Amino acid sequence: MRKSVRGIAVILILLLSLGAMGCGAKKDVENQSETGIFTPGTYTAEEKGHNGPISVTVTVSADKIEKIEVDAKNETPAIAEKAIESVVEKILSAQGLGVDAVTGATVSTDAVLKAVTAALVQAGADVEALKNIKAEEIEIEVKDREADIVIIGAGGAGMSAAVEAAGSGKSVIIVEKMPIVGGNTNRATGGINAAETSIQEQEGIKDTIETFYDDTFKGGKEENDPELLSILVENSAGAVDWLNELGAGLTRVSLSGGATNPRIHTPADGSAVGPVVVKVLQEKLEELGVEILMETTATKILEENGRASGIEASDINGNTFKIDAKAVIIAAGGFGANSDMVETFRTDLVGFSTTNHSGATGDGIELGQEAGAALDDIEMIQIHPTTDPESGYMFTEGLRGDGAILLNSEGRRFTDELLTRDVVSANILKQKDGIAYLVTNEEMRAENAALAGYVTKEYAVKYETLEEVAAAIGADEAAVAETMSRYKEAVTSGTDAEFGRTHLEQTLEEGPYYILKVTPGIHHTMGGLKIDTQTRVLNVDGEIIEGLYAAGEVTGGVHGANRIGGNAVTDIVVFGRIAGKTAGDELK
Ligand code: ADP
Repeated sequence: MRKSVRGIAVILILLLSLGAMGCGAKKDVENQSETGIFTPGTYTAEEKGHNGPISVTVTVSADKIEKIEVDAKNETPAIAEKAIESVVEKILSAQGLGVDAVTGATVSTDAVLKAVTAALVQAGADVEALKNIKAEEIEIEVKDREADIVIIGAGGAGMSAAVEAAGSGKSVIIVEKMPIVGGNTNRATGGINAAETSIQEQEGIKDTIETFYDDTFKGGKEENDPELLSILVENSAGAVDWLNELGAGLTRVSLSGGATNPRIHTPADGSAVGPVVVKVLQEKLEELGVEILMETTATKILEENGRASGIEASDINGNTFKIDAKAVIIAAGGFGANSDMVETFRTDLVGFSTTNHSGATGDGIELGQEAGAALDDIEMIQIHPTTDPESGYMFTEGLRGDGAILLNSEGRRFTDELLTRDVVSANILKQKDGIAYLVTNEEMRAENAALAGYVTKEYAVKYETLEEVAAAIGADEAAVAETMSRYKEAVTSGTDAEFGRTHLEQTLEEGPYYILKVTPGIHHTMGGLKIDTQTRVLNVDGEIIEGLYAAGEVTGGVHGANRIGGNAVTDIVVFGRIAGKTAGDELK
């Protein structure tokens, strides 16, 4: 993944005029490597910078560093350009490496220093001696910035908002605290739900916006905000068209959990929607020239005369600066990776792992609250039943749908594996240590690409026989054998008398077996900042906080008590776009 969408090349070519240091004497070529400090020539080296690789090309004569070219096209020009220039100047004028990284741009300048050092090693230099040749210290100041709209978070919602706003001519800056864009959106493994789309029509699928509304309302236990839900479903087809216009290629529609009709849209090969959405949005932002300040954290929303007037931010080097703006859009995602916050709102969810990326720490909720925002449905947290106990990696529900069963460490089944996420999770938590084992076999692996991937990634462990499975999970051999034979009977007879599972796909009678150890993990935080249908953030009295907008997982109300799979991407695109448009239209 590209680490920055900023396409401006910072190519610095600094030449020290020959003779200025009084050491430009030409030497006999054969003797140069023996008598000179360097083996004359041009050397290149690369180091990891702030946003991506920085490469340097260093030209040396026998006793002089003649030229240093730096290609730092991924770095943020406003911060890195001057700093890199000054470091290069210092190296050339001191003809030594005793140069410190520049305060305020430590990462980029340190990378340049390391790369130049590596190039000089190739040139046969005694770099330790060169490091003793000191240059003066340099410091740069990180300047405050300004834009029409500042967006906190470069996930699906923030980038959708940015595309809309920048597309209508507004100047936009996004701050993203992680080193990559995409947040949890990168992890959207399913598709995007939408009703009455052109793709459904082409396939002869009869689906309606009303049915989509009803399914989502039912799935959300009728706790969804009806107005927000209407906006979601009414704009869903438009969201798919929009993504496809950007090149997403979401042309396949299938049926998924909680939906009456096939309405989950994915790429043609059925692969995950998230990375595709992130890619097309990122490319569009690059085209529009929107700047994303990477590894930059919004720490405060500024206010002037009761209006949001920008943010305070902190970059990776610890520099604090302001971005003045006429509108602020909070698109910082949820708090699924912030266990303290999860426990604050849900005392029952202690010690859970998470399926979320590490940046899902609920900053946007805290920033919004400090600015006076009200919260909606904040205690509504969705747990996913089958995640890796150590890493939180999520195993798709499709595995159970395709025939996998769950055993506890005694080798017994304990639930209908196809009940809703919350019920299956609760049933796993009743087992010893809150752990269960997903049982799959070779036949399933051959047909299920996801399972094949878990085998490759070594989440799914192979056992030849049921005896080996029993030993691995610490259960009695006899218990495992009995459970599996009873399950085979259920599949064969079509009746699961014990747990009432109706979708009986696989007898699982033949090995080898692939076992995945699972526990429920925090998956989605449905609650968050309270917004109106135009994404304006509301205060506790239900009044609009001027100039402040929010979209995506940071908001509450859209999904009610439970989010249907496929609705997260609809949410971020529909409301992200509205946020970009409303913020742009209401600039003062
Ligand atoms: P959504 O699905 O709502 O777009 P994501 O999780 O995909 O949410 O994206 C939210 C993004 O916001 C993530 O990339 C995350 O790292 C970023 N983020 C969270 N808090 C901050 C913050 N304080 N400053 C800047 N970016 C933030």
